[in-house]
Amino acid sequence: MLADQIPGKLIHQIKNYYGIWRQLFGPRFLIKIFMLVSMPVLLVGFFFSQARCAVVAGDEVVAVAADRETAMAAVEEFISRREEAAGMPVMLFEEIKYRPTWRLTDAAGKEEIIRGLSRHLSYGYKATGIFADGKMVALVEDRAAGNRVLHELLHMYSEQGKLEVSFKQRVELKPVALGDREPMSVEEALEHIRFGGSKARSYKVKQGDTLWDIAAAVNLPVEELQLANPGLDPEALQVGQEITVSPTSPLIDVLAAYTDTRREEVLYRVQEKVDKNLFLGERKIVQQGQPGLREVVYRVVLENGVEVHEEIIAEKIIKEPVPQIVAKGTRKLLAFRGGNGRLAYPAAGAIVSPFGTRWGRFHSGVDIAASYGSPVVAAESGTVTRAGYYGGYGLCIDINHGGGVVTRYAHLSSAAVKPGQKVERGQFIGRAGASGHATGPHLHFEVIVDGVHKNPSLFF
Ligand SMILES: [Zn+2]
Repeated sequence: MLADQIPGKLIHQIKNYYGIWRQLFGPRFLIKIFMLVSMPVLLVGFFFSQARCAVVAGDEVVAVAADRETAMAAVEEFISRREEAAGMPVMLFEEIKYRPTWRLTDAAGKEEIIRGLSRHLSYGYKATGIFADGKMVALVEDRAAGNRVLHELLHMYSEQGKLEVSFKQRVELKPVALGDREPMSVEEALEHIRFGGSKARSYKVKQGDTLWDIAAAVNLPVEELQLANPGLDPEALQVGQEITVSPTSPLIDVLAAYTDTRREEVLYRVQEKVDKNLFLGERKIVQQGQPGLREVVYRVVLENGVEVHEEIIAEKIIKEPVPQIVAKGTRKLLAFRGGNGRLAYPAAGAIVSPFGTRWGRFHSGVDIAASYGSPVVAAESGTVTRAGYYGGYGLCIDINHGGGVVTRYAHLSSAAVKPGQKVERGQFIGRAGASGHATGPHLHFEVIVDGVHKNPSLFF
């Protein structure tokens, strides 16, 4: 019914539209789209599947291998051939990179790659450097040799393993390119490190030599010789023994430490106490001090065999010390005078011979330097009890000050006072001389308290 109503022209138009639609979006179009998208992908895939592997050293393409495996094998072969020829490990100075490349050149074979590597690659032979605090001090063949050097160095100071040893510097072994240097043997490296690069000279001990003689002969301190000869006993030199006589300045220092337990005296303290019966300035030991005893554990550190440091790590008192108690006098001589208890100095010179026992003989006073005829004065006021010759004292004056105190002035050349005469402190009483047992002019001056000779020096 409806079809009958639609005119034939319209139907034709609709058919045309459908045809255009089919032409645009039909199966052939889909194939085109598919081709457009997939072809580049396929091409890229093709190129990748055909990609070569470039061997790159630094920034330079050395060779192009068929694939990564071939490239790596060629590099390995190159290194191992050189190591075999030199008998030493090879060290490459540039990093080798493997990069896929688009170049559709012919892939190089293994030998061709190796030739390319020898032309372009910089490499060196690898030795082992011994480093102290980051600075190379010796070059040896390999790590094993380096380890032997370090072991020997430590062993030298460990005294058969009795001491804990370590290096003072931070010591490392690192691979180093040999360049045109020769690696050292273990012995050479040891000597180089121990003697700071200077050649060690040796000396053969002769009959009668001491370490001190040798040190003087080679113009080195004895400590330096001991440093250069670890473990050397200076008291036990053997004739014919070789000792090293080079100054040392080791490139690596070896620290050795041990603990040492010692018994030591502990000093006693001195305590003072007042004794009113002693004169001012007079002292008397009331209790003799006695040292104590302690056990001390020291940690001793040696540097290259020479002691450099010692510290106490433990301490135990075995016996306490007994303090010394000293009585100190406060009693003033001639306190009744209201003075300070001091005596006036009886002559002008200094004390040239003190009071007390000297050379086995008791000196009962002090000798004061005084030239012949120089004035002598009374040390304190009092009464003259003697003025005349008195045995070895020669011309002698005694003055009694009361309170049991007497002063004596001897070896005078003249006396200006008479017995029984009263004198004032500082009063002129006579002149110095050399009478009696005197080797030359001086004033012999004594202080006698209750008949006992006291040290005059305490009373000035
Ligand atoms: Zn004397």
